[in-house]
Amino acid sequence: MYAKVNSEVIEFLRSLFGKDRVLLDPDILEVYAHDETAGLHAQPEVVVRATTAEQISRLMKFANEKKIPITPRGAGYGLSGGAVPVCGGIVLSLEKMDKILEIDKKNLMLTVEPGVITGKIHEAVEKEGLFYPPDPASLDSCSIGGNIAENAGGPRAVKYGVTKDYVCGLDAVLPSGEIIQLGGKLVKNVTGYNLIDLLIGSEGTLAIITRIILRLIPLPKVTIDLFVAFNEFQAAADTVSAIIEHQILPASIEFMEQDSLLTCEKYLKKELPLREAAAFLLIKLDGNDKGEVEALCESVGEVCFEQGAIDVLVADDRITQDRLWEARRAIIEALKDRSPVNQMEDIVVPRAKINDFLREMKKLQKRYEYPIICFGHSGDGNVHVNILKENRPQEKWEKIIPELSKEIFDIALTFGGQITGEHGVGATRRKYLKKAVGSKTLTLFRGIKELFDPNNILNPGKIFP
Ligand SMILES: Cc1cc2nc3c(=O)[nH]c(=O)nc-3n(C[C@H](O)[C@H](O)[C@H](O)COP(=O)(O)OP(=O)(O)OC[C@H]3O[C@@H](n4cnc5c(N)ncnc54)[C@H](O)[C@@H]3O)c2cc1C
Repeated sequence: MYAKVNSEVIEFLRSLFGKDRVLLDPDILEVYAHDETAGLHAQPEVVVRATTAEQISRLMKFANEKKIPITPRGAGYGLSGGAVPVCGGIVLSLEKMDKILEIDKKNLMLTVEPGVITGKIHEAVEKEGLFYPPDPASLDSCSIGGNIAENAGGPRAVKYGVTKDYVCGLDAVLPSGEIIQLGGKLVKNVTGYNLIDLLIGSEGTLAIITRIILRLIPLPKVTIDLFVAFNEFQAAADTVSAIIEHQILPASIEFMEQDSLLTCEKYLKKELPLREAAAFLLIKLDGNDKGEVEALCESVGEVCFEQGAIDVLVADDRITQDRLWEARRAIIEALKDRSPVNQMEDIVVPRAKINDFLREMKKLQKRYEYPIICFGHSGDGNVHVNILKENRPQEKWEKIIPELSKEIFDIALTFGGQITGEHGVGATRRKYLKKAVGSKTLTLFRGIKELFDPNNILNPGKIFP
């Protein structure tokens, strides 16, 4: 169905990008054959590193005519295989389009290229007393283009929302090669259909994002973190609902079980605080008035103890706060270190159902006899469910994983949830999409894809069953 990359194609790519930015070395192709999704691998035929939207436009026009698949790639830190070229063809790397173009303090807007690492955005705007809240745990490595394509969330989503809540303008190249400009430095804009929101979370299947305008807010002056320990995971889960029910909205409420803390200890090679407890919440409170944030901190502490907390550590300086967050940020790497073969699901349920959902995961763990470790952004109802193979037989693993994932998705759907909260459908959750959204919605999705990309050359093999 698709054309292969031959010498004529390579010649065209070299004339467009320059010889140094057309990569064919097998060792380099191997780097672009995977993202951070365990067990997914597909080599591209060639990788190109773009530096301008005009290059991308000419590439897309060429690829569309020749019917060659193009897989856009930011930093390759995705967790659903979105940047993996499962149909071969060309990987279009955006990593060299990494300029912060403007911090506009008069309009509180930031203009960037898609390859900027998200953590660099935080550093740059915070120096100016400004704040870009979305903070995926991968922020030191992932790119803002990838965040937009996945509509990334992060711990601060509880109070500040996710990537889509900050995007005001996008430039994008369509599969036909045409360039469109959407929105601008506009706080509000209802001129026609909201195509910005359509492109956000479209996982690189509708257009390639080449320039981004983000809304900024003032940086909160005071932050206090609480690390709260519980003797039962159920009490920790109940506390999340209790905090929300008290109408307190922390910046973050993250959940960890003891098993994940101990796995992090081993990975980080250091003893972590309150390690004997069964479950933990990591809660961040912020604001501009020290007294107000301290009062909020006391109220949250009271709710935690009412729900059965056994200890609370408080951190109000950056060094201690970083120490408290170290384990949470290292969990994914630590689990991977413990079991390189693993399956990570990313379900989302209404916040008040977290408790019921976690209880069901315990039952599955017992029934399947595999470690199922849950952690995540409990303040958003977003739970990362990790099944570890460790040294169990490969044959059994391959048999049970589809069954187990399906059971996890079914439980999430029964509780009014969904199969992915922030990692995307990508290549790994495609076959569950119909069940998750229903056939009518899936038909609409297909119609949208067809309109943007009638030849299905942009990131094929993603999202659709
Ligand atoms: C340790 C770890 C922690 C993580 N924590 C979080 C978290 O807290 N929250 C969260 O939401 N995610 C998290 N993730 C997942 C991941 O980091 C995010 O999905 C991130 O947005 C991926 O960005 P990237 O630049 O690496 O994108 P890539 O993996 O390169 O690409 C992801 C998708 O975006 C598309 N894409 C990339 N750039 C463009 C572009 N310019 N135009 C169009 N499409 C494009 C690709 O085709 C692909 O479909 C985590 C991952 C890891 C490994």
